[in-house]
Parts: sequence; structure tokens; C-alpha cells
Amino acid sequence: MSISIQRCTSLPELFQAIEGIKPPIMYLAGGTDLMVLLKANLIPDSAWFDISDIPDIKGITVKDDMLVIGAATPFDEIYPDANVLKWAKALSEAASNVGGPQIRARGTIGGNIANGSPAADTLPALASLGAQVNLLSARGERSVPIEGYALGNRRTVREADEIISSVSIPIRAGIKGAWKALGARKALAISKISLAVSAVLEQGSFSYLRIGLGSVAATVRRAPQAEEVLLNGGWNRETLEEACRIIQTEISPIDDIRSTAEYRKAMSGVLLHDALISAFGEAPTR
Ligand SMILES: Cc1cc2nc3c(=O)[nH]c(=O)nc-3n(C[C@H](O)[C@H](O)[C@H](O)COP(=O)(O)OP(=O)(O)OC[C@H]3O[C@@H](n4cnc5c(N)ncnc54)[C@H](O)[C@@H]3O)c2cc1C
Repeated sequence: MSISIQRCTSLPELFQAIEGIKPPIMYLAGGTDLMVLLKANLIPDSAWFDISDIPDIKGITVKDDMLVIGAATPFDEIYPDANVLKWAKALSEAASNVGGPQIRARGTIGGNIANGSPAADTLPALASLGAQVNLLSARGERSVPIEGYALGNRRTVREADEIISSVSIPIRAGIKGAWKALGARKALAISKISLAVSAVLEQGSFSYLRIGLGSVAATVRRAPQAEEVLLNGGWNRETLEEACRIIQTEISPIDDIRSTAEYRKAMSGVLLHDALISAFGEAPTR
């Protein structure tokens, strides 16, 4: 299949170019997903627009108590960024583990979120951080919580003429976090299960704690019962054990080609244990 790609270097140019275009529309960012699908002949006839050089959707800024990451920012720029390390450690860890060096150099956070894959590795981290996805079109801007962006496997609330412009992450003083995943091998494997935790611990009690899980449902999901155990009981051996037990009962993964439901359930407890200890640097002392 031969395709023609229109390169746009500004948002007005993009929105003018897509006006009246019949979907589907492909927005080429890093191309790491699109090129694989194109080669496998899995892309329907579509109009293609290269958005990788639009400055307004690139880069990382801190604005009004929010960490804002442009959708076309590659993983290589995200994971070592000082503000991401400070305010979104779980996301830094997820971004540093996506694919190999070539994928991280080209692949973007917007491309990772866009199609609502439940296995996209940044999603659990973004869910744990309470992130919003910012959508932009010629009609205006709107924001949706990351957990409300995907409606089901590869179905999302995004309209064809909307792009993801950025993600916004609330800044919370003292936040710590970690991201863990299991795949068939250490790199270049789709996760069987991924889990992220972000939390603020003050004198033994959590003032903020969220757990995000990937590859255990059709969309990214939280673990509200395990969160409640930790939020109510604080950081101690008993609540850690109880949260790691309860998370296994509150998720309902499926068997698929990558793993079994039983394995995913058991590993959710192991990953939660590892993520919490890695976030706080040590096991609880009492
Ligand atoms: C070898 C290999 C290893 C991989 N490993 C991992 C991994 O470990 N973890 C993981 O999560 N993923 C992995 N991926 C998948 C992929 O690299 C990521 O999902 C990446 O983030 C996609 O971003 P991109 O910029 O390359 O997207 P593109 O390929 O440019 O686009 C992907 C899709 O998103 C849409 N899109 C892109 N940007 C926007 C936007 N701003 N607004 C609206 N729509 C948009 C496009 O229309 C297209 O449908 C891997 C891929 C390969 C080929």
C-alpha cells in the first residue's frame, strides 16, 4: 500500500489540513506502532498527518501545580527529566522500560495512550498519578481522566478530528512511586501484567495513594480495595500483607496468549509488594 503523509508544523496548519477529511485519520508521531501495522497491512485506507514536529505538543513544563507533558514527547526525554523524576517517578520508570533504545528514542507518550491498548505501559503509571488526557481539535479543548479515556479494548472517547495535545499530572508534595511489570522476557515484550503505585506518606499514614494496573482488563484499572486498606491502615507489615492479598481478589483478568488469569492474579500481589517497597526504599519497620 502506498501512502502520502502531510507534515504539519503547527496546530492551525494541522486543523486546517484535517478539516472535512473522512476518518480514519492517522497521526504519525514516533511511528513505532504505525510502521509495524503498515508493514503487516493492518491499516485501513486513511489520511496520514505527521504531527512529530508541532512544537506546541512537545516538551515538559510545570504550570499551575501541574506537570504537563506534550503528547509528541518521546520516552527518551520523559524518563530522565528532573521534574518527571520528582513528581511522577512511576511514569519515569514506565517510560524507561518501554521497548528498546530505538523505540524510546522515537515512541511518544501520546502514541502510547492514543488507541486505548490495555497493555500500554505508561497507563498504569498515569492512573496512579491521577493524570488527565488533554484533547484538542479545531472545536476546542477538553480533558478526561486517564481512566475514562479508553472505553474498551482499543475504543476511546477521542473523536477522529481530535489529537491528544498533552497529559497533565497534579503535583503533590512528597510523592513517591514505582512501576513494575512482567513480560515473557526482560525487554521488547508486551507486558503480561504491569502495576504502578504513587503515594504520599506522612508520619506512617498515606495522604494519597493510587494503584494502576495494566493488562488485567480491557482498559487500565485501579485497585480501590487494596488502596483503601493502605489509606485506612497506613504503612505497616499487616496492611502491606492485606493489600497484597486483597488485590488478587479484586481483579478479574482473562486467560490470553500472553498469560493466564490465575498467574496475573497471583502476580498482582507480588508486583504491589515490590512496587511499594521500591517506592519507599524499604519494607515497613513495624
Ligand atoms: C519493537 C517494539 C517494542 C515495543 N515495546 C513497547 C513496550 O515495551 N511498552 C509499550 O507500552 N509499548 C511498546 N511498543 C509500542 C509503541 O512503541 C508505543 O505504544 C509508542 O508509545 C507508540 O508511540 P508512537 O509515537 O510511535 O505512535 P505512532 O506509531 O506514531 O502512532 C500510534 C497511534 O497513535 C495515534 N497517535 C499518535 N500520537 C497521537 C496524538 N498525539 N493524538 C492522537 N493520536 C495519536 C496514531 O494515529 C496511531 O494510531 C513497542 C513497539 C515496538 C515496535
